[in-house]
Amino acid sequence: MKICVIGTGYVGLITGCGFAKLGHDVACIDIDKSKVDMINKGIPPIYEAGLAALLSKVAGKNLNAATDLQSAVRNSEFVFITVGTPSGKDGSIDLSYVKAAFAEALNAIGSGNDGRQSKIFVVKSTVVPGTTDSLAKFGEEKTGKRAGVDYGLCMNPEFLREGKALDDFFEPDRVVIGTEENSTMERMLQLYSGFKCPIIKTNRKTAEMIKYASNSFLAVKVSFMNEVGNICKKSGMDIYTVLEGMKHDSRIGGIFMNAGAGFGGSCFPKDVSALANYAKSSGYEPMMLNAALETNKKQPLKMVEIAKKKYGSLSGKKAAVLGIAFKPDTDDIREAPALAVINALIEEGAKITVYDPKAMENAKKIFGESVSYADSAENALSGSEICFILTDWKEFKDPSLYGKVFVIDGRNVIRRKENYEGICW
Ligand code: NAD
Repeated sequence: MKICVIGTGYVGLITGCGFAKLGHDVACIDIDKSKVDMINKGIPPIYEAGLAALLSKVAGKNLNAATDLQSAVRNSEFVFITVGTPSGKDGSIDLSYVKAAFAEALNAIGSGNDGRQSKIFVVKSTVVPGTTDSLAKFGEEKTGKRAGVDYGLCMNPEFLREGKALDDFFEPDRVVIGTEENSTMERMLQLYSGFKCPIIKTNRKTAEMIKYASNSFLAVKVSFMNEVGNICKKSGMDIYTVLEGMKHDSRIGGIFMNAGAGFGGSCFPKDVSALANYAKSSGYEPMMLNAALETNKKQPLKMVEIAKKKYGSLSGKKAAVLGIAFKPDTDDIREAPALAVINALIEEGAKITVYDPKAMENAKKIFGESVSYADSAENALSGSEICFILTDWKEFKDPSLYGKVFVIDGRNVIRRKENYEGICW
């Protein structure tokens, strides 16, 4: 089938490469020409495990990138919208990228026979309930084209985990398809016919809510474990022993239960804020979502509190920060807990050296000259008095790496009796 993906960031590029590997013809569209050029050369603009190998196989063959959205849309049967939906100042989502991409794509389709139901627009960006329906209205006002008449409209939320995104594409836990249109549902089911997972068929609004409810549940889980961890630490108990005793209860389980420096990334903080904002605008005060966000905001700063308690002032102290990415196997540092820790350390006057196996370029864009950059964990630690571990990259797990440096561990990466303190253990 002919597929066009608008917005080739983490979600768009994985979606494009995934469908290309399955044999479909894919056009990856982005406004950023440098990304387009890299993709056409077979080089991914982001780091994601396995992506470079896959892209090098499909680029220039059945996957081609371009900036020309309209001709790609004209040539496609399915038009995936995977542009960003960043947080606005009040926590609501900024829909300007989705609206711009959607309106431009609609302008490319005919409203006569060639447009009639022949193209399916698939919103994959994470948007609050009701957004895809409101896009249909917005599109009709702007272009006169009607969803369900001139084109098919569907909401198909994305659940990929960065770091495991390709595995999640090929073997998803579930696929959710939201549309009110029977023919659109049938064609989406055809597109996903090779996937051996439950397929949840629903309307567009419910599909949108499934994504927010899923991410918010996971975020609440993390904040819950962090809160219990904070309580444990105050009374000298180890949250990881407590978890050991919890996880065998089949109603609880042990996945996504690690206490630590909190959640980050481009999704959880933004999505929980957006759902909280959506709830408020519907007249409901979302107490649990607010608490999850508040707990998460304070959590990474506990690492700086531990250092201040030990040393008094951190002014002039040499500190190594290991790990900037919000989790291992990605270079994504958006909303990463490491950012809050580094900013707090800068304010305290510490002399900071940072190291991350994949996220150094992204870190440089944010911190510029305010910190030093090392090319290995060893070099970051050399001469440092304190070390803050913020990402559980495999290479940080070797305890011999740390020598006598005082380690404040935010991810349960190493355990040792001396010169060590866990954030909440
Ligand atoms: P991203 O910022 O990495 O990528 C968005 C891309 O869209 C950028 O390359 C940008 O240049 C491009 N773009 C913006 N406007 C455009 C336009 N008019 N035409 C063409 N390209 C345009 O974002 P992302 O992380 O891939 O997330 C995309 C969406 O998917 C968001 O709504 C996000 O919440 C959701 N999501 C993300 C993840 C994740 O792990 N990153 C997981 C699930 C869902």
